[in-house]
Amino acid sequence: MTPKDYMDRESKYGAHNYHPLPVVLEKGKGVYLWDVEGKKYYDFLSAYSAVNQGHCHPKIVKALTDQAQLLTLTSRAFYNNVLGEFEEYVTKYFGYDKVLPMNTGAEGDETALKLCRRWAYDVKGIKDGEAKIIVCENNFHGRTITVISMSTDPDAYRGYGPYTPGFIKIPFNNIPALEDALKDKNVAGFLVEPIQGEAGVFVPDDGYLKKAYEFCKKNNVLFIADEVQTGIARTGKMLACDHEGVRPDILILGKAISGGVVPVSCVLADDEIMLTIKPGEHGSTYGGNPLACKVAIAALEVIKNEKLVENAAKMGEIFRREMRNIHSDMIELVRGKGLLNAVVIRNKPGKTAWDVCLAMADKGVLAKPTHGNIIRFAPPLVITEKELLDAIARIKEAFQLFE
Ligand code: PLP
Repeated sequence: MTPKDYMDRESKYGAHNYHPLPVVLEKGKGVYLWDVEGKKYYDFLSAYSAVNQGHCHPKIVKALTDQAQLLTLTSRAFYNNVLGEFEEYVTKYFGYDKVLPMNTGAEGDETALKLCRRWAYDVKGIKDGEAKIIVCENNFHGRTITVISMSTDPDAYRGYGPYTPGFIKIPFNNIPALEDALKDKNVAGFLVEPIQGEAGVFVPDDGYLKKAYEFCKKNNVLFIADEVQTGIARTGKMLACDHEGVRPDILILGKAISGGVVPVSCVLADDEIMLTIKPGEHGSTYGGNPLACKVAIAALEVIKNEKLVENAAKMGEIFRREMRNIHSDMIELVRGKGLLNAVVIRNKPGKTAWDVCLAMADKGVLAKPTHGNIIRFAPPLVITEKELLDAIARIKEAFQLFE
């Protein structure tokens, strides 16, 4: 089959809910991907920051294959000998009383919203059905009906109403707007991405998260961090909230918690919040399955053993420095933290971020535009300086084609 055959087959039999770059991949290792014709690429997307540990990391794949021979799924109807091991590991790793495991990021967000509302009624004492949660404009928390009810992006919410009520939308990185919204006594939580990834890697001002956290505390409101994309070393700290010494009341993790191997997400919180949900009141058939648990433990071990926090911080500095040295009138701005970066493109006819991504793919670097004119650059955190500089040289060559 040719690459076109593969793409045509997907187009004929699959829903058209994505618009992929025309590259058909068949193999991955570390920072590299190969297409069906054997061409090698640097992966600068990392499956939207799920593959922080690099593709097919041998330790994670071993955890997967070892556990796959023993037991993959019991459901939560019974105990198994692995779930508790993961629960102990992950709660100690991030410093919380308890964890609630799910599968996808969106489910993690849904779980956090449920926990926040239950806490509002059972602990804070808000009248049943009246709790509100503050969210930020341009957020991205996934694709379920409730999650898109929080969205301000028409592509995400248009045509899917009626929407879930109970959300107050305020501008991101705006403390006065938060202060104002917190005056409503029915507010139970503030849900925020420490850096807005899907929106185009918007990094808030220094001090924003800390101030937001303090205002939440003052008003007895839960600070809920969606670190599905920013978490697990991506931004040069274990959590992006660590940059400001903020410990969220509810922490949502996904993506890289399983190193891109199987879907795993989870929500971490202390007992006062977590124990509001009682047996039978929330769950998922696959949530916390033994395979996922072993994979997640291995994925988190790799982060520490291979010092990926430190590497992300160091490589991120080099990336931004080198990218800012590329002289192209198409580059408007380079921004980011650690290895979560974006380049804002000055689009012109026939010279758009999409065209740049096609040219970069041709040069052997895969990245994808978001919102038309922003290209996110987020390679696996195992990238070495030599690999990074080689990739940047290729990116530069791609930009030069448009001069
Ligand atoms: N939250 C954030 C911050 C995300 O970036 C994403 C996905 O990009 C999600 C939630 C949704 O995760 P999933 O696609 O696994 O449902």
